[in-house]
Amino acid sequence: TEETLVLVKPDGVARGLTGAILARIEAKGYALVDIKLVEPDREVLEQHYAEHVGKPFYEPLVEFMLSGPSVAIRLAGNRVIEGFRSLAGTTDPTTAAPGTIRGDFGRDWGGKVQQNLVHGSDSPESAARELAIWF
Ligand code: ATP
Repeated sequence: TEETLVLVKPDGVARGLTGAILARIEAKGYALVDIKLVEPDREVLEQHYAEHVGKPFYEPLVEFMLSGPSVAIRLAGNRVIEGFRSLAGTTDPTTAAPGTIRGDFGRDWGGKVQQNLVHGSDSPESAARELAIWF
C-alpha cells in the first residue's frame, strides 16, 4: 500500500466542499489515516511549494494558501498517489474533465492563481516529503 498527502485547499473549505470531496475519496475506497484542519504559516508553505519559488504565480499562491484553513489528509491505498490525482482532475479547473473534483466543482475565478480545490502529491518522493511537512 501507498500513502499520499491530500489537501482540501482554502477555496474548498470556504465553499463548504470538504464533505463532498471526502465522500468521493471514501467512496473510492481509500483509507483516511489522519486528517486535520490546519492554518499553515508561511514557512510551511515555502517548504511545500519549494519547487515553485520564483515562478510568477508563487507569491499569489502562498497568499491564497494563507487566506484560510485547509484540511490536510494522510490517505492510504494501493496506487493512491496516481489514483487521487485522477480523482482530482487536471490542474486548470476550466478544462478539468467532468466527473473529477476540479471538473465538477471548480471554475476560473479570475486572479493570478488557479483556485483548484485540492492538492495531491505527484510521486512517492513528494508524498514522503510533503507528509513530513504537514504531519
Ligand atoms: P497538478 O500537479 O495536478 O497540476 P498541483 O497542485 O500539483 O496540481 P502544481 O503544478 O504543483 O500543481 O502547482 C501548484 C499549484 O499552483 C496549483 O495547484 C495551482 O493552485 C497553482 N498553479 C499552478 N500553475 C499555475 C499557473 N500557471 N497559474 C496560476 N496558478 C498556478
